[in-house]
Amino acid sequence: MSKSTLGIIGGGQLGSMLAVAANKLEIKTIVFCDDIDAPAQNFSNEFIYGQYNDQSKIGEFINKVDVVTYEFENIPYETLNKINKIKPVFPKPSINRIIQHRLAEKDFINKLNIRTTRYASIKKKSELESLKDLLPGLLKTTTLGYDGKGQHPIKNLEDLDSLNLDYSKEYILEKLVKLKKEISIIITRFDHQKYEIYEPIENVHEDQILRHSKIPAEINDKIFEQSKLWATQIAEELKYVGTLCVEFFIDRNDNLYVNEIAPRVHNSGHLTINAYNISQFENHVRAVCKLEQISLKKITNAKMANIIGDQITIYRNKKFENNEFFFDYLKKEIKNKRKMGHLTTLII
Ligand code: AMP
Repeated sequence: MSKSTLGIIGGGQLGSMLAVAANKLEIKTIVFCDDIDAPAQNFSNEFIYGQYNDQSKIGEFINKVDVVTYEFENIPYETLNKINKIKPVFPKPSINRIIQHRLAEKDFINKLNIRTTRYASIKKKSELESLKDLLPGLLKTTTLGYDGKGQHPIKNLEDLDSLNLDYSKEYILEKLVKLKKEISIIITRFDHQKYEIYEPIENVHEDQILRHSKIPAEINDKIFEQSKLWATQIAEELKYVGTLCVEFFIDRNDNLYVNEIAPRVHNSGHLTINAYNISQFENHVRAVCKLEQISLKKITNAKMANIIGDQITIYRNKKFENNEFFFDYLKKEIKNKRKMGHLTTLII
């Protein structure tokens, strides 16, 4: 389906980078977003502003596109499903439904015999009291959490009392992994057993927000292979089309665990723009628009630093070396803890 029009739901930095990649491939893009200031409108051919349940805006979007993708997982399932009845949506809405719910996601991964941290569903406080062996743990909302939002460290039951949780919502309690490091695998699946997979990326989080990524990850060969194998199994089982990220924990005994799956391009893969012949964004567009699959080649090692909050003002006035690539997300408002841009440095 070459030269098709790609609809992108969500207009943040990931939507922007998808639009840039599509443009390079001469694919027209239309971004649909509920933020009137969405930065992706600076990079797309067209922009539709509307709420994700606004039926007339959804209808307008459907009429204008040939194929649809999205930049974040928390889009109402009904919206994706409605669009998918008329124009193909990749990844499939049913995949998104599993992954946007932490419990369904972990159940799915465990059914594949892939290790996750131990966890339990929490629906009321009394249940939590019987799960002391999961402490110290992290209590997370089952939906709508990202960058540490909706997460509470729980050392003991008293911590819980002070939280005054709203038990009309559903929570998951996860055993805290004694982390040695975190890695991610970015994989683009085109079709049955047809993949392009990037090498493991090592990630450093601060306050649960990704701060730094680098390749190569400093990991042993077993973890290198195991993480790639698990990511491939997950993508295949989901019959996934497009770019997917699997985030992993490695504990102090070198055990590997899947933390979570992101059914989309991912922040840890930004360095693929400069370090590989084909970026995670271009590969996503190639897969969802049924374009040619090209073998991945790493050009150089690289590291990436996220630029958070008002740090961006320093970078906007900075001069860069030839091996440094600064990306300004052009967000109108600078907010504390908001990802405003990133810097990739090629290690030549
Ligand atoms: P998440 O949104 O679940 O990916 O969590 C964000 C970050 O919080 C992770 O990348 C880890 O750094 C940390 N984290 C989350 N869950 C756990 C856990 N069960 N054990 C240790 N660290 C965790």
